[in-house]
Amino acid sequence: PIYLDNNATTPMDPRVLEAMIPYFTQKFGNAASRNHPFGWAAEEGVDYAREQVAKLIGANEKEIIFTSGATEANNLALKGVFEMYKDKGNHIITCTTEHKAVLDACKHIEKLGAEVTYLQVKSDGLIDLQELENAITDKTILVAIMYGNNEIGVIQPIKEISAIAHKRGALFFTDATQAVGKIPVDVNADGIDLMSFSAHKMYGPKGVGALYVRRKNPRVKVTAQMDGGGHERGMRSGTLNVPGIVGFGKACELCQLEMAEESKRLSALRDKLESSLTTLEESYVNGNREYRLPHVANISFKYVEGEGLMMAMKDMAVSSGSACTSASLEPSYVLKSLGLSDDLAHSSIRFGLGRFTTEEEVDFAIEQTKKAVNHLRDLSPLWEM
Ligand code: PLP
Repeated sequence: PIYLDNNATTPMDPRVLEAMIPYFTQKFGNAASRNHPFGWAAEEGVDYAREQVAKLIGANEKEIIFTSGATEANNLALKGVFEMYKDKGNHIITCTTEHKAVLDACKHIEKLGAEVTYLQVKSDGLIDLQELENAITDKTILVAIMYGNNEIGVIQPIKEISAIAHKRGALFFTDATQAVGKIPVDVNADGIDLMSFSAHKMYGPKGVGALYVRRKNPRVKVTAQMDGGGHERGMRSGTLNVPGIVGFGKACELCQLEMAEESKRLSALRDKLESSLTTLEESYVNGNREYRLPHVANISFKYVEGEGLMMAMKDMAVSSGSACTSASLEPSYVLKSLGLSDDLAHSSIRFGLGRFTTEEEVDFAIEQTKKAVNHLRDLSPLWEM
């Protein structure tokens, strides 16, 4: 099958693999071994990667905390900020379309005394800034709103959100896992205090990511969630995943160099896919079409049964608006948040294009999807067009 699920994960760029290989075999040292050249070589690799990662987001390398991925970074941000600042206030604001790693970390700290407001989104997936303003209180310590959504690609008004948070003395955290490496993200221009992101969404290896933690204006601190040897400025203990971090660094460098061209190419392919598939009657693009990532298209095909659609599209690796939780098919909570019916959520497909997606693959996807939708509608008693 052709791979069009680049929001779930990306294949690793061969140039990333090449950078990593020496760190498995020759330069295998522990980056914390300060008394011999094996340790120094590993540390050098990590230092260089830290610069590459920091540069992509306009940060200082001292502000990068390496983690095992964005899930861990999200947990560290939410639990770590709550623990550090709970004497100042216990209120946190997030929204209903966040990734589970944010929502479930919020659920966790609620049990520890946090009060969390879950903002609804509008039918295009964007939050209402006035609602955010209204939700902030003197007890609000953190506003946590994602950069780009993983299901619909919608990009939230990050600068405006951070300005609102800061005006009221709250910190601003964003899960930028889907945005970093795809669109320009600058922690200073965007007013970001904490930000999570992950290598495997940007052609790097799985199992490595980072939390950006601001060090100036203001100096932000998080309570460690992993205690031990005091690595990563005490915020995340554990021997560093040196090859993974080196690969993450290389992936960031490549994104920085190629992002502008790549996003132009991918948005053109995405537009082609969308305009072809919306020639099908009763097909709807989900999410705001202006403020969104360049490589994602999420389309609902009314009167098409979701499971059948996935089955009919088995030559394509895509994602559907149905999440398989414990054998039952649950409609996507993100699409439900936009106000879609269960049926329309089930009948949606996420196409995630990527660096290695070709125009031929997109043409194939268009043809296969049209065929599947038409076929399933012919079988459907509800379809009488
Ligand atoms: N946040 C978002 C928005 C994501 O899309 C993902 C990926 O599934 C994650 C967090 C989790 O990232 P990781 O797989 O690195 O833990």
